[in-house]
Amino acid sequence: MGRTKVVGPAGRYGTRYGVSLRKRVRDVLLKRYAKHTCPFCEAKGTVYRITTGIWKCRKCGNTWAGAAYTPFSELATYIKKPIVKKEY
Ligand SMILES: [Zn+2]
Repeated sequence: MGRTKVVGPAGRYGTRYGVSLRKRVRDVLLKRYAKHTCPFCEAKGTVYRITTGIWKCRKCGNTWAGAAYTPFSELATYIKKPIVKKEY
């Protein structure tokens, strides 16, 4: 993945779209790839995005609906139920 000093992960877009637009994309992508903490097992950096809005933890296997680019939306503060709860 192309990464640059200025726009980080948005460096994949090369010189296209202009730097101010790429900086905005960078802010979103950095949140998406940041090390998120699992809400179920509290492991750090095990959470990844399966697809838009669907997040999964590598460690405990829980899958839940979050925001498009972050594991939690404002709404998730009230709804803390996984879609798929793994049996232990
Ligand atoms: Zn977990």
